[in-house]
Amino acid sequence: MIPRLHFAHLPTPIDSLPRLSAALGGPTLLVKRDDQTGLAFGGNKTRKLEFLVAEAQAQGADMLVTAGALQSNHCRQTAAAAARFGFECTLVLVGEPPERPSANLFLDRLFGAQLVWTQKSQRDATLDQVCQAARERGRKPYLVPYGGSNATGALGYAFAMQEFLSQGAPADWIVFASSSGGTQAGLLLGQRLFGYAGKILGISVDEPQAVLQERVAKLASETSEKFGKRLDFAPEEALVNSDYCAAGYGVLTQAERAAVRLFAQTEGLLLDPVYTGRAAAGLLDLIHKGFFKRGETVLFWHTGGQPALFAEKYQGDLL
Ligand SMILES: *Cc1c(COP(=O)(O)O)cnc(C)c1O
Repeated sequence: MIPRLHFAHLPTPIDSLPRLSAALGGPTLLVKRDDQTGLAFGGNKTRKLEFLVAEAQAQGADMLVTAGALQSNHCRQTAAAAARFGFECTLVLVGEPPERPSANLFLDRLFGAQLVWTQKSQRDATLDQVCQAARERGRKPYLVPYGGSNATGALGYAFAMQEFLSQGAPADWIVFASSSGGTQAGLLLGQRLFGYAGKILGISVDEPQAVLQERVAKLASETSEKFGKRLDFAPEEALVNSDYCAAGYGVLTQAERAAVRLFAQTEGLLLDPVYTGRAAAGLLDLIHKGFFKRGETVLFWHTGGQPALFAEKYQGDLL
């Protein structure tokens, strides 16, 4: 048995997007609502944390430590899971502390997480220091990997594929935002294990194609060992499009703005500025270019992130 806690609201719904599909005159569009996983405004990290927190408990840890960007959704969901299961929590955040914490950062504080600020080049060293200092005062820290993406966290998305298949939605394509690779690795492994006949396309948020393909294939292979038998994945099996990340992580361009507005104004559906906004912008461009065949059905796997809409940094920019 693979240790797992059950706190996500599953299965997440699959909705159709008729007005958006009609506005685009393209393929039939569906959305899988992993923005509704139920923990602290939801998102894809919740599925990973069901396995990561179970592992932390099994190891006797009493503290969760992880790292991320200032508006990290992963850090927000980790801080919430720590509160929910009685762990102390320290978040190592890259950047400078703003005068007033907003959005995800505000929520990190509300969940009682301690914040440690660092530079990107110092991130891993800072994590080591935080864990070492915690051990010195008698704590047992558990290091949650960046983005929740190791073989334990990626299990969440292997099982998410099984859940999706049990829902019987006829999707030829699954399209979503891909970054640290755990979501894509899990889906790819789940495809092999549970037999999904469609294609899985990650839109890179911040990594070159080859880097992300390599990472996803390696992680999917490692994750397979949790099921008792190693399966090998080649980088080419991980479909990654990195045409939409040139502006850099968290930088809002006209394409993300247009995508966030279009989803909001045709379907009343909220995307986030950093991840799903970028992935949706890529999806819209691919539809405009005729990448998908007319009769095909494309499922946009919503990975969450909407609290970042309330970061001052993005709010003015979106209207
Ligand atoms: C973390 C995150 C992603 C990327 O998922 P990975 O598993 O890191 O590739 C996508 N969307 C949102 C909203 C996220 O927070």
